[in-house]
Amino acid sequence: MEKKRILITGAAGFLGSHLCDKFIAEGYLVTGMDNLITGSMENIDHLMKLKEFQFYHCDVSRFVHVPGNLDYILHFASPASPIDYLKMPIQTLKVGSLGTHNLLGLAKSKKARILIASTSEVYGDPLVHPQKEEYWGNVNPIGPRGVYDEAKRFQEAITMAYHTFHGLETRIVRIFNTYGPRMRLDDGRALPAFIGQALRGEDITVFGDGSQTRSFCYVEDQVEGIYRLLLSDYVYPVNIGNPDEITIKQFAEEIVRLTGTDSKIIYKPLPKDDPMQRKPDIGKAKELLGWEPRFSRAQGLKPTLEFFKSKLKETVTSTQ
Ligand code: UDP
Repeated sequence: MEKKRILITGAAGFLGSHLCDKFIAEGYLVTGMDNLITGSMENIDHLMKLKEFQFYHCDVSRFVHVPGNLDYILHFASPASPIDYLKMPIQTLKVGSLGTHNLLGLAKSKKARILIASTSEVYGDPLVHPQKEEYWGNVNPIGPRGVYDEAKRFQEAITMAYHTFHGLETRIVRIFNTYGPRMRLDDGRALPAFIGQALRGEDITVFGDGSQTRSFCYVEDQVEGIYRLLLSDYVYPVNIGNPDEITIKQFAEEIVRLTGTDSKIIYKPLPKDDPMQRKPDIGKAKELLGWEPRFSRAQGLKPTLEFFKSKLKETVTSTQ
């Protein structure tokens, strides 16, 4: 049987590169695309020699051209950590809006099914807990997170419009905090920041009083959820995340315990519009996709810590 071909944007990023691995393992031909502003070739170096994989260095916000047929598209290109989209607000807005428009056009011309990466940020600082897909959110459009949140909300709107108006096959995943190997140590997120600080013996910086909550999903679970959603026939948004909720203070303490560090926890001001609580309701994913997370935080943090340890070793060796 002929292999199916999938285009993955953001292929050199954390999630994108794991998705490339998954689809290669499932027997697909994978075309990766990335402009490398936050992604890294290191994440896909191991795929470059495979004949099932090809890579285009390109900015999907400008123009997308892919010769030949395509069966599926996964649009995962975007800066995704608060620090990154604060540094690159215009690119973030463009890739969620213009980039998505270009990819929807490509999907239409190739008669391909497209899945777009949305986010729990569409719920903003939520007034409903846990967050169900039916909740419309509480977002400040002109706040620091607005560039990401509103780009993703627009992305959902234009994707649904292509579905209803053009009959395009579309899927929308709302991704909650996800972690694992290949995260950047310096992306400013709590998890790599805390682990990096703990391993270097530096103070661990908790923002605010640490009573805000998050729910962390291991990357392998996230990728499986996305894979099942793509192959399902459900067109409305689906939350994929791990509902095991923890306060950021408890999470910092957990990292201290796991690493056995002498680092102290210190407190810094809470960034503006930082959501106070976040936890996915995954009822839909369970019912429609038969999916739920398999990795506990203890299980997921083990390989993640190993990854960050070897990254730090590399940095130390290369600066000697
Ligand atoms: N955070 C923190 N210290 C850091 C980085 C982040 O206390 O060094 C907090 C941040 O304010 C937020 C939570 O940890 O409340 C999760 O932040 P992250 O950047 O991982 O992603 P978010 O879920 O806010 O998009």
